[in-house]
Amino acid sequence: PGVRLTDGFARDFPDLGVQWKAAEAPTPRLLALNEPLAAELGIDPAYLRGDEGLGLLTGTHVPSGATPVAQAYAGHQFGGYSPRLGDGRALLMGELPDGRDLHLKGSGRTPFARGGDGLAAVGPMLREYLISEAMHALGVPTTRALAVVGTGVAVYREQPLPGAVLARVAASHLRVGTFQFARSTGDVELVRRLADHAIARHYPQAADAENPYLALFAAVLDAQASLVAQWMLLGFIHGVMNTDNTTISGETIDYGPCAFMEQFDPATVFSSIDTQGRYAYGNQPPIVQWNLARFAETLVPLVDDDENAAVETLTASLGTFPTRYQEAWTEGMRTKLGLPAALGRPAGPGDPEGSGDPEGSGEPGSGDGAAGSDAIEPLLEELSRLLTASRADFTSFFRALIPAAAGDTSPVRELVGELADGWLARWRALDPSAEMMATANPVYIPRNHLVEEALDAATAGDLGPFTELLVVVTDPYTERPGLERYASPAPPDASPHVTFCGT
Ligand code: AMP
Ligand code: MG
Ligand code: MG
Repeated sequence: PGVRLTDGFARDFPDLGVQWKAAEAPTPRLLALNEPLAAELGIDPAYLRGDEGLGLLTGTHVPSGATPVAQAYAGHQFGGYSPRLGDGRALLMGELPDGRDLHLKGSGRTPFARGGDGLAAVGPMLREYLISEAMHALGVPTTRALAVVGTGVAVYREQPLPGAVLARVAASHLRVGTFQFARSTGDVELVRRLADHAIARHYPQAADAENPYLALFAAVLDAQASLVAQWMLLGFIHGVMNTDNTTISGETIDYGPCAFMEQFDPATVFSSIDTQGRYAYGNQPPIVQWNLARFAETLVPLVDDDENAAVETLTASLGTFPTRYQEAWTEGMRTKLGLPAALGRPAGPGDPEGSGDPEGSGEPGSGDGAAGSDAIEPLLEELSRLLTASRADFTSFFRALIPAAAGDTSPVRELVGELADGWLARWRALDPSAEMMATANPVYIPRNHLVEEALDAATAGDLGPFTELLVVVTDPYTERPGLERYASPAPPDASPHVTFCGT
């Protein structure tokens, strides 16, 4: 058995990494193993459970052909530029046969560690495992978690905590910050090789475009617009959307202080260090656009020999972001509300009111474009006001709407009261499909109080609650009798949830 790794990135980009090896893990103990992912990768789970496998998952066993590196990157953190971040406590072990990266987090200090200890505690690594796997099950592009292995090393935070290494699998670990670092060297050919690598790996069709680097930018913009739309549709708040945590692949990466919003409020922030609310729920789309502007800056010398022309072209492309985002979000909301696809008639001339007006439309949703953007936009605007006013639990609201599609409005009225009556009538007139809604609105998300409870138990040595929560959030659309607790928001007397970075 064993795992075959190649070292393409390490060999091709010696300037973007430092060859390094992991710290010892004196008593490795497997805490979580993603058997379905292992199977998908053609790795025998029994191998990963053995000594050599645990060595691989903690970085102390390096397969022949692999060259682990700590990757270099720069990045804007909370808007301020750091020229040298990099993997301070992580290693790229190498590329798996399907082209994805195998990467470790918590594997010891590297030359990028600055003041950090290079380590990670069990709780935060299980947290990334749980939330990234929940995101995957929710259909959101994300890095995956292959395993968490306890190291037997104590990690000193406010108190000593058990240490762990997370093994994660990702389409790549190319970040906007990787391009910023490459660009900061002044070596334009390095940026070009990096861009060519990103195109080959993630957007091969861009290679055939008239301007491949502009096409790369547009492809990343599309992927990121779609990604942040999916976050918004689920109430996911990343919490630390620095440019080094924005991928070129369009996968969600680095689950630190992330959390899911319960009561709908665009100003929601959970991270203790986000005192200005820069990364608040409602700010996420413009922040992605801001991060993409930083990416665009690195591509200027590749896009056109004439700098002004390059800036103009990239600026125009960046300007498509709000529309791209709005399209992805509206399409997602349409599905959450169970409405039929727009029938190719854009909002526009004629009948501005008729198709959205339940009384005026004899056969709602019957092929006259009733759910087209002209009907859905006012509905969505009113929904946002309704959710804000009621402070309803975001996830429960959409679940409670499902029976309402068939006429039973009592669950949703329980959440939002008679506030919703007018809106419900207009929505129902569009003939929503409960079936469509049941596949777009999860019953279970990793609710903050449940995650904390599971991680506290795991830190104290009891993996039971973690394992049970994992089962539920990785099958999020299947209602399980007896597990209502997992579908409910935090009790009203619970103290506000706060999350912490880099622990
Ligand atoms: P993050 O906030 O997790 O995206 O990390 C930001 C930067 O801090 C990255 O360069 C990390 O590698 C680094 N970092 C975070 N925690 C540690 C740690 N305990 N030891 C060394 N470096 C760290
Ligand atoms: Mg990071
Ligand atoms: Mg990190």
